[in-house]
Amino acid sequence: MFERELDILQEQHLIRTQVRIGSAQGPRITVDGKQVVLLCSNNYLGIAEHPALKHAACDAMERYGFGTGASRLVSGNTELHEALERRIASFKGTESAIVFNSGYTANTGVIPAVAGDGDLVLSDRLNHASIIDGCRLSRARTEVYRHRDMDHLESLLRSNRTAPRKLIVTDGVFSMDGDIAPLPDLVLLAERYDAVLMVDDAHATGVLGKQGRGTAEHFGLEDRVHIQMGTLGKALGSFGAYITGAPDVVRYLLNTCRSYLFSTSLPPAVCAASIAAFDVLEAEPWRRERLWDNRSRLAHGLASLGINIAPSATPIFPLLVGSSDRALHASQKALAQGMFAIAIRPPTIPDGSARLRVTVLATHTEEDIAQAVRILGILKEEGYFSHGRPE
Ligand SMILES: *Cc1c(COP(=O)(O)O)cnc(C)c1O
Repeated sequence: MFERELDILQEQHLIRTQVRIGSAQGPRITVDGKQVVLLCSNNYLGIAEHPALKHAACDAMERYGFGTGASRLVSGNTELHEALERRIASFKGTESAIVFNSGYTANTGVIPAVAGDGDLVLSDRLNHASIIDGCRLSRARTEVYRHRDMDHLESLLRSNRTAPRKLIVTDGVFSMDGDIAPLPDLVLLAERYDAVLMVDDAHATGVLGKQGRGTAEHFGLEDRVHIQMGTLGKALGSFGAYITGAPDVVRYLLNTCRSYLFSTSLPPAVCAASIAAFDVLEAEPWRRERLWDNRSRLAHGLASLGINIAPSATPIFPLLVGSSDRALHASQKALAQGMFAIAIRPPTIPDGSARLRVTVLATHTEEDIAQAVRILGILKEEGYFSHGRPE
């Protein structure tokens, strides 16, 4: 039925294939029986393979079985779901938290719950696909402002003063470029124009801020972001997502958010693993220190090769290649040499900016990073990273 569509994707070098992993998600993984350095995971702190999570999940499974058989509001709300929400609230220093099955379902549920017909959503041009889809589902008018451009955002706020509710939504750390949202300016604009501010901390949770509480902690603005979203599947090494905010925000979402209401709840074992992940995060601060040390190490290595990492300010490095087929070649060459970094192509990123999106982990050794730098050096020699960023 879709032969023609697939042919077109093939011609555009946009066909997706999935690499098959035969090991746990460590800093080195097994691909096709061969060990390679993993350089495109979001398991930033290496918690996914931590024994504490496995033990917590097994214990929970013994007690609760596996599936919950219903949504939270029917018969799928266990003690562990609520314990996880209390754990998240204590970690974030907020009064309440609500857990979602994934970051994707959090964004596609929360944005339509907050903004509806007649309202206005202001969204950064490089926001994650789940935010874009949330905007589409909301029936609110969506205005996309230029990436991190606060003058553009303010002009949109100024010309739309009458919208009953205005929601500004942004990635905290932009997932494909690794730069950080200008939160101090966003907070001021939200306050000046009476808008709700929502920050998606999928890549900031566990990574940014002294305690790893995310973008708001990084900027010292934790009391001034109305809705903070974080995910449990990236730096926390588990699965799921959460929203923190004032108690009325959480109660409102529990009552109205369709992706929360109409979906089977997370397995209790997943909740137990997530609670254990927060314990690991707090008990082992060396992981975040190592992550940032490794980030410097890789950044220096790339700089010495003359590879541009701008605008990265985090463990995410966008190594621009340009065309999709060249990015695919670069990724395949890297894999053959012993390094796994997937080629990121449209529509994940704008046309003409295909790249290797490289991420460093706390658990990478110096040797892992040296191997990655050596392989990226080969690609650089072959001219893969000489492409500029399209306007
Ligand atoms: C990964 C990601 C999500 C989706 O989170 P999942 O829990 O993986 O569904 C949402 N927003 C951003 C910015 C992300 O990078």
